[in-house]
Amino acid sequence: MSRSAHPAGPRHADVLPEGHHLQVPEDLNALDPKVWSATTERGDDGVLRVAGLDVRDLAQEFGTPAYILDEADLRARCRDWKEAFAGADVFYAGKAFLCRALVRWIAEEGLNLDVCSGGELAVALSAGMEPSRIAFHGNNKSVAEIERAIDAGVGRIIVDSYEEIARVAFAAEQRGVVQKVLVRVTVGVEAHTHEFIATAHEDQKFGLSVSDGKAAEAVRRILKLGSLELLGLHSHIGSQIFDTAGFEVSARRVVALLAAIRDEHGVELPEIDLGGGLGIAYTSADDPQTPADIARQLTEIVKRECHAADLTVPRLSVEPGRAIVGPSAFTLYEVGTTKELDGLRTYVSVDGGMSDNIRTALYDAEYTVSLVSRASGAEPVLSRVVGKHCESGDIVVRDAYLPADLAPGDLVAVPATGAYCRSMASNYNHVTRPPVVAVRDGKARVVVRRETEEDLLRLDVG
Ligand SMILES: *Cc1c(COP(=O)(O)O)cnc(C)c1O
Repeated sequence: MSRSAHPAGPRHADVLPEGHHLQVPEDLNALDPKVWSATTERGDDGVLRVAGLDVRDLAQEFGTPAYILDEADLRARCRDWKEAFAGADVFYAGKAFLCRALVRWIAEEGLNLDVCSGGELAVALSAGMEPSRIAFHGNNKSVAEIERAIDAGVGRIIVDSYEEIARVAFAAEQRGVVQKVLVRVTVGVEAHTHEFIATAHEDQKFGLSVSDGKAAEAVRRILKLGSLELLGLHSHIGSQIFDTAGFEVSARRVVALLAAIRDEHGVELPEIDLGGGLGIAYTSADDPQTPADIARQLTEIVKRECHAADLTVPRLSVEPGRAIVGPSAFTLYEVGTTKELDGLRTYVSVDGGMSDNIRTALYDAEYTVSLVSRASGAEPVLSRVVGKHCESGDIVVRDAYLPADLAPGDLVAVPATGAYCRSMASNYNHVTRPPVVAVRDGKARVVVRRETEEDLLRLDVG
């Protein structure tokens, strides 16, 4: 609907925090293709369909809340990354969202997989992921996790500390194998969304610092150990990044260390991994680059730096997580209550909340939301979508416009919830975690079922 349809203008438009750029939408029914997965569409009846399926039917069959995952969209994203990085390796960062179906899809599309715990490794292995295509991350892998990863034959372990070098080397030696490793280095670059800091304090738990010589010392130690094969260096600089300027600085510093290693040891390491963190559109204000653009820039940067240092160009890896699965899913909720605060905003309570999406409470993340079960010509009202938890910070969408006639029983959907929502879901208030329903070509199937109270009680042995 256009604003002129409502001469009085939208309600509550004047209470947004300063610096907030939320626009009153021209048309509450429009689906921004940056934010909604590829097969979503809205009919004249106002109902959202995904993969040809009516969300009212999905809600009926699978209940709400539910994560609805658009398999065709996800596979297309995998292919885009794989094609863009032909000649490089794409590791899907499993922590964004992992289940067996997803492991099979990414494997079929030619991606490799990052895991960072024994649990993620177990999911990957049980889905039949080829172990040589798995990379194992983490700043405090247990000895048991390390042993299990080596026994499984994981392709690479990203070592994060001196202790871990010793642990991996010892476990590999005991087993009479040579384990491939990369060293996670911190390069003093911190990137987030539109800014990056090239001189960030390396005040973080991950990695070995380049500037204080610890990364070079880690390399020295690894090269002396017969049970480790050093493939290269790994750097991960942030999350929800929209341009490659931070990667440029990081690549320069990583390549400088490769050159220093060559000078000291006479070896040119064959690989570098520049990590993940590529941004997605949570709202229409976000403008991510295409994988092809990112690939071209990163490849050029690495080539240029290597030529300048007279190094053979190493094989490049990247590790997108959010950029692969984030835009492929939306969360479907049912509205339970609404509370209008005159002159302020309308609170819309849904049947989930911070237990299925902690990102708003945790990072002040921004989302958008839409009425998806019917058409409405009502005026837009500044709204806040909140959950059902006993916590006033239980906010799913802080600020968004919804139609004034929104009512209990309506379905609303929050797009771009494929990453870091189900994977970070909790049982706060003993709420059961929602299912993940994969949709494709007019068919829906549960890939992660809804938790039941029986599941909750099974853990309670009192
Ligand atoms: C979290 C993480 C990623 C993925 O980050 P996204 O923001 O989901 O792309 C990749 N690599 C490492 C080492 C990570 O910790």
